[in-house]
Amino acid sequence: MLKPAAAMSRLGTETAFEVLARAKALEAQGKSVINLGIGQPDFLTPGHVVEAAVKALRDGQHGYTPANGIPPLREAVSAYLNRCYGVEVDPARVVAVPGGKVTMFFAILMFGEPGAEIIYPNPGFPIYESMIRFTGATPVPLPLLEENGFAFDADVLLDLITERTRLIIINSPANPTGGVTPRAEIEKLVAGLADHPQVCLLSDEIYSRLLYDGREHVSLLTFPEIADRLILLDGWSKTYAMTGWRLGFGVWPESLVEGATRLAVNSNSCVNAATQYAGIAALEGPQDSVEMMAKAFDERRRYVVKAMNALPGVSCVEPGGAFYAFPNISETGLSAKEMESGLLNEAGVAAIAGTSFGVYGEGYLRLSYANSLENIEEAVSRMESWLARR
Ligand code: PLP
Repeated sequence: MLKPAAAMSRLGTETAFEVLARAKALEAQGKSVINLGIGQPDFLTPGHVVEAAVKALRDGQHGYTPANGIPPLREAVSAYLNRCYGVEVDPARVVAVPGGKVTMFFAILMFGEPGAEIIYPNPGFPIYESMIRFTGATPVPLPLLEENGFAFDADVLLDLITERTRLIIINSPANPTGGVTPRAEIEKLVAGLADHPQVCLLSDEIYSRLLYDGREHVSLLTFPEIADRLILLDGWSKTYAMTGWRLGFGVWPESLVEGATRLAVNSNSCVNAATQYAGIAALEGPQDSVEMMAKAFDERRRYVVKAMNALPGVSCVEPGGAFYAFPNISETGLSAKEMESGLLNEAGVAAIAGTSFGVYGEGYLRLSYANSLENIEEAVSRMESWLARR
């Protein structure tokens, strides 16, 4: 009998991948399923980015690279952050990783251990809680509530800090809610952290370029007073439609760069070289595709919110960023899981139960509107007739 480590039984998963597999299985049986489950842009990576990778391969970039990424990529990230936020970031603090997820994996491994507490958003990206539990640390949920537009409340967050708190994770714009935390709350958090110098902050800003109605992205990078304990997570997946390339970056405090690089040496060694060249082309080339995608998402966002609010028993606050809507379904009388499985098996719509993102997701459903308007319209009509049939 094999005996995997006990920690394996504490490791969770990302249900979106399971729903995707189930949707594919139903499709293989000849059923039609519209996928509003998975969170990835339905666009192709811009052509000039693909060409940069092809050129790198043709030029013989086939070997290992430095574990933290090739210098021109880390310099391109630093210049990009300067253009976006007007801050100076030493390229030596940038660590390239195979996907934004890996920065969170490293950060949680670095701070999680039995006895430690890690505060994380709930509902939130499921890997936060999964990885915290894996390390044996205690997950401390930060409830995100509909009445606050799913933004976090800095006072509530600061009250959760104890002498055992090692790491706080925040995420704005947020998955699964699309919530955007206002500048005032972020400023209050940064000010409050002055009383807790032992606490590190992981700011997951993977949706930094997907904001609507003229909202600006408030990056935690713009607060120099926390530069010595901020881990910034961002990457290419959502911004440049590059989910399958597996490329992301972390900006680490000087004192943690060596540890993060060592974790890379112990796991992925480096990101494949051609992808790193593609990453440079994405940051330095034309940005019109980023704007085009954001515009398309915005149009779908407006449609989804209006359509959800028109369904009986469903209400939906307007998401300010990312490409998710998080409608409240509690008045339908169905639990989030019942809704997820009914929609998938009986209506042919893949969506994710809010509880897949933590206990505070009960009564909600996550819809990804990274799908064509035509498909979204068809999904809404299937939902409407399924709800009426029940
Ligand atoms: N952080 C959040 C909040 C996400 O929603 C995702 C992907 O869905 C990631 C990080 C991971 O992104 P990547 O595909 O670059 O690993």
